[in-house]
Amino acid sequence: MSAALNPIARLAAFGGRPRFDRALHVGRPNMGDRGRYLGYINGMLDRGILTNYGPLVRELETRLAESLGVRHAVSVCNGTMALELGVRALGMKGEVIMPAFTFVATAHALQWQEIKPVFVDIDPRTCTIDPERVERAITPRTTGIVGVHLWGRACDTEALADIARRRGLRLMYDAAHAFGCSHGGRLIGGFGDCEVFSLHATKVLHAGEGGVIATNDDHLAERVRYMQNFGFQGQDNVVFLGLNGKMSEACAAMGLCNLDSVEEFIAANRSRHERYRGGLAGIPGVVFLEYPAEERNNYQYLIVELEQGDFGLSRDQVYRLLQAENVLSRRYFFPGCHRMEPYRSLYAYPEYRVPVTEALCGRVLALPTGPQMGEDDVDGVCELFRFFHEQAPAIRAALG
Ligand SMILES: *Cc1c(COP(=O)(O)O)cnc(C)c1O
Repeated sequence: MSAALNPIARLAAFGGRPRFDRALHVGRPNMGDRGRYLGYINGMLDRGILTNYGPLVRELETRLAESLGVRHAVSVCNGTMALELGVRALGMKGEVIMPAFTFVATAHALQWQEIKPVFVDIDPRTCTIDPERVERAITPRTTGIVGVHLWGRACDTEALADIARRRGLRLMYDAAHAFGCSHGGRLIGGFGDCEVFSLHATKVLHAGEGGVIATNDDHLAERVRYMQNFGFQGQDNVVFLGLNGKMSEACAAMGLCNLDSVEEFIAANRSRHERYRGGLAGIPGVVFLEYPAEERNNYQYLIVELEQGDFGLSRDQVYRLLQAENVLSRRYFFPGCHRMEPYRSLYAYPEYRVPVTEALCGRVLALPTGPQMGEDDVDGVCELFRFFHEQAPAIRAALG
């Protein structure tokens, strides 16, 4: 693919080579201080405690509960398992309403437990689940709602809480994108019955692999704790069906080390965001995703929407052109969950049911950002967008 496109890149007078010598990735891990990390790891090796709710996991949970302002932050081996545990501990079954526009793990966490994910459309203003459509999708089989704070932008938590209360539904949030984000002056983490964070390597705060269930509900926290440890209550007493969802000490070490630096990551993300905003300003057809001024965001996701008519090239054409220049952007999220298996085969979701999702899936592009990326790299990517737009007719002709 990229070989075929390199002649296009040459048009850029970049000497026939890709614009960047090394690849710029989306979601390259944020790295805290290596010395601190090795300090945590050395402590772990000295103690000889590698897992089973060791001191590093405990410290991480305490510090996460403090940072999120919640009573409980239960660590889990990854975000998907944390979603599954939350769903099960809340007693969701039958049908659960969620947005089609999210990472597929949100849907899998339901379907894995034979719960039907009922996909509804998003509100175009927030790109999060549309409460009106939630209300209309409720059936006698509905037991819950899973909202997703997409790109760290909060769901309409007030409207969703109101629906959940009136209709007797459980309310959970997939907050995988939303560590360090706020809504209505409150940090994300304390909304709904529980909120689930991912600490995967691509997230703003990560532990390599990891997940967190944040909740103010003592009873729920207790249930997920038993469930993630085979259902054990104490040494010999099994009180629930359980599995192994424990976080290891080595992961907690990475999480603690990164938690020490997460404000620096966010500051670096924010400055890249500002730089992109300036660099892309005024290019027709490039719609820069702003974050609401009244909400705090972690700026981990640099999102643009491409309008083919104004820009001159389609999103997919730009995606491939960027690849040829070593800019590895991602189509987050494309396609919608409803178009992925097993959902496409199991449930017929005609396009018209999620028109906003369909439109956004075809236009959205996540660009590389983060502390690992220099400001001159940002300038280079913006230059490429300007060039692609200016040369759009020639590029279209060359692409055939
Ligand atoms: C990353 C992510 C997950 C899954 O988290 P893992 O820790 O990778 O299992 C779930 N939902 C969303 C929206 C995500 O971005």
